[in-house]
Amino acid sequence: MKVILIKYGELTTKGDNKKDFINKLYKNIFNKLKDITYITKTRDRMFIEFEDDDFINIKNVLDKTFGIHSYHIAEVVNSVDEDIKNCMLKIIKNISFKTFKIETKRSNKNFLFNSQEYNQELGALVLKNKKDITVDVHNPDKKFIVEIRDKNTYIYYENYKGIGGYPVGVQPLGLLMLSGGIDSPVAGYLSLKRGMTINSIYFEARPHTSVNALNKVKELSKKLKEYDSNLLLYSVNFTKIQEAIYKNCRKDYLITIMRRMMYRIMDRLCDKLNAYLFINGESIGQVASQTLASLKVINNVTNKVIIRPCATLDKLEIMDIARQIKTYDISILPYEDCCTVFVPKHPVINPKLEIVLEEEKKIDYEKMIDEAIDSIKIVDLDNDYSSII
Ligand code: ATP
Ligand code: MG
Repeated sequence: MKVILIKYGELTTKGDNKKDFINKLYKNIFNKLKDITYITKTRDRMFIEFEDDDFINIKNVLDKTFGIHSYHIAEVVNSVDEDIKNCMLKIIKNISFKTFKIETKRSNKNFLFNSQEYNQELGALVLKNKKDITVDVHNPDKKFIVEIRDKNTYIYYENYKGIGGYPVGVQPLGLLMLSGGIDSPVAGYLSLKRGMTINSIYFEARPHTSVNALNKVKELSKKLKEYDSNLLLYSVNFTKIQEAIYKNCRKDYLITIMRRMMYRIMDRLCDKLNAYLFINGESIGQVASQTLASLKVINNVTNKVIIRPCATLDKLEIMDIARQIKTYDISILPYEDCCTVFVPKHPVINPKLEIVLEEEKKIDYEKMIDEAIDSIKIVDLDNDYSSII
């Protein structure tokens, strides 16, 4: 019989939480594969029984599941010397290689041989039964791993790399500020990788932004949803606030004030949507509103925890991740979002809080924020219309 053997990622170091992590990983895989497979778990491995035809589907799921270090197609036999040897012979008959190595991992201490002895035992067997091959312990063409457990033994030589991280859902919900740019989807991906679940929030400023801008954010959300099947996208109507700032406030402070308004809304949305924190794609020094001095003034409106996964990454590093998760090509589509429409020529890079507070007095923002919160809508990711919650 064959199974897919899954090795857990970083979660094996998590002490008391280990059980929760394994259960969450199990659930995340189970929810996607329950119709085609049978899955079992132990404290250090998960096993998926599967039909050959389903492998590609299973692979597609595992490649988008955080918490997996690697997975392997393994032959399963009883932990009996003769059965293991027969299986080994069957495996080597069907594949070609010039050099090999056997790596036995024996957790079943009642087994006849210890790991070292069994490496030699199986190595000799392979050498005797296949022509023109040698042992190479450093750089073999094929490394056969033989995991001898209490009841079953698993033999495998194929390696599929997982995407690591913690299973989605071991951390609380975070709200991702999702624009149509390159950075925020990457910030979302990196947050999911640490086990958070996310809902995306998009600030929309129609008619200054087009429906195409919304569609871009929808496509980006769909990409992120592949890692977190419960992900929702919300849109918030930001037009009035944006216009009021534009009409009434100093041009060089437009962005600072606009971002403080977004943060105020995010703060309230965290409470409304039971989210623990919010996340965005800010990167230190990338633009005027992301100098440390700007971030300090902007951050001043909220006590919520804010996660900025891209904070210390170069744009090139962020772009690399965006390509890898296939959001890059969507992000570079040329549709205006609400920041770019109102961008001033010379935004302040060292804003003063006193000036910001004076400028903000010129607009009746509390009321507009209430309205923006009330305007929130879930965007239907599967259809081309939005429904109101
Ligand atoms: P990105 O940073 O995603 O490439 P961007 O460069 O257009 O997009 P910035 O102006 O750098 O965005 O804004 C910094 C962060 O603020 C974004 O990464 C995103 O998290 C958030 N943000 C900006 N505009 C919006 C918006 N319209 N809706 C939701 N979040 C936004
Ligand atoms: Mg950016």
